Amino acid sequence: MSSENTPRGFLINGKWITNSQDSFESVNPATGKVNYRLSSASQEHVDAAVQSSAAAAADPAWRDMLPHARAQILHRIAAGIIERADDLARLQMTENGKVWAECKAQAASAAATFRYYAGVCETLGAEITPSRGNYLSMTAYEPYGVVAAITPWNSPLTMEAQKLAPALAAGNAVILKPSEVTPSPALLLGEIALEAGLPPGILNVLTGLGATTGKWLVEHPGVNMVSFTGGTATGRAIGVTAAQRLIPAALELGGKSPHIVFDDANLEAAVENIMGGIFEGSGQSCVAGSRLFVQRSAYDRLVSLLVERAGRIKVGLPDDPASEMGPMASFTQRDRVEKYVASAAAEGGKILLGGKRPEAAGLADGAFFLPTIIAGLDNRATCAREEIFGPVLCVLPFEDETDLIAQANDSSYGLASGIWTSSYQRAWRVARALQTGLVWINTYKQLSISTPFGGFKESGMGREKGVTGMRLYQQSKGIYWSMDPRNMP
Ligand code: NAD
Repeated sequence: MSSENTPRGFLINGKWITNSQDSFESVNPATGKVNYRLSSASQEHVDAAVQSSAAAAADPAWRDMLPHARAQILHRIAAGIIERADDLARLQMTENGKVWAECKAQAASAAATFRYYAGVCETLGAEITPSRGNYLSMTAYEPYGVVAAITPWNSPLTMEAQKLAPALAAGNAVILKPSEVTPSPALLLGEIALEAGLPPGILNVLTGLGATTGKWLVEHPGVNMVSFTGGTATGRAIGVTAAQRLIPAALELGGKSPHIVFDDANLEAAVENIMGGIFEGSGQSCVAGSRLFVQRSAYDRLVSLLVERAGRIKVGLPDDPASEMGPMASFTQRDRVEKYVASAAAEGGKILLGGKRPEAAGLADGAFFLPTIIAGLDNRATCAREEIFGPVLCVLPFEDETDLIAQANDSSYGLASGIWTSSYQRAWRVARALQTGLVWINTYKQLSISTPFGGFKESGMGREKGVTGMRLYQQSKGIYWSMDPRNMP
């Protein structure tokens, strides 16, 4: 892509543009070494990208393309992702430190997302609605035009596919601004999309910092809709800008998800899912089950099973097939996690496991942090309230269902929750009472592209995935057509 000294470029209107005046580093969090430099898009670049996307979106070649043809392009993008899955996974792994198997799985899921929306694009059309008079009424769905898609660093491939595939299927042009921590998978997706026959300008990819490139993009008057995934504070700022401009904003934000174990549950199965729920991806997941509520009668047994199992997690370099947990995605993120653990200790928490960096050979230069379990805190303690986004599990006891629901819902977030119980009635009651956009019962973190995903409360607005995930990128138009012959000439 570039020589050592030239920063890697971004994509505008089918062309790769570099900016030697303003660039930033990509750092491998497993080694601390600089991977390469990337160009930052200036305000002029943002403007050029919006102009080209607006023109491409209005071009009949894209605007009037039959759904079948659009679906064929999406299928070709999916095939390109599969062909370059190793490259995509490697870029993600060297930028955010997720273990290889997880990066590969995310590349496969990105391809599946494009295939799914190719199908939705072909099947979901205008609707004829029953009329009460001598007229035909129809609801047509039209694209917004230019969509700004802004993504985080924890699972770039998954998040980017979840925005690009439905937004393109819906007929928009998209300007993708990936996180500055993980910019490269998006650039390769841009290359794959061009090769798949997506017209230039229908997907522009701008790299740069959030406070500059991202902000300029959201503020640009030519952007017609924003789709954002990231932290709640950033989402709020973007939501305010979008509200001032009166454009829709879909916001997928943070979480502090309660994972709940009743004393009648299969504790062994629960333990395995609690592990994946909080330690997979070093806890850098918006749906991480970071508040573990355990019924007091099962508390001691569950906690000892957990500490034993989490103590066996192999923390290591992401490209080592034996590694189950890699580093944090950045040194900044590791510093944040360390501060949270210190706050837990200061607030009376007991560190049952981890709470520090690993001492194993070969990991000293990376942003590693051990799986950590903290007990003895109240649901109102800092670590139990704020999103840590790290491998830190807070274990909290509860007495009964009423106490549990009060504590679990006592959170500003409402993204996901998990319930472990052998009682169907209780599972149903608790699932309905929890204020979260997703509920798992006797499982955790199982996700399907066809089920809408999103949060209650400060975890977001709007739902991605599923059939409604394509409607998110369309505006409806009601068309009334009189059949009254008297109205004809
Ligand atoms: P972040 O909010 O710092 O950044 C996300 C993206 O927004 C990046 O591309 C960044 O450059 C950009 N950005 C930052 N400031 C901006 C601004 N003022 N205007 C426009 N763009 C701006 O989030 P992060 O640290 O990259 O990701 C972690 C957060 O993402 C966590 O809170 C996590 O819970 C959340 N997340 C949510 C989901 C979900 O689906 N709900 C999924 C993954 C991650």
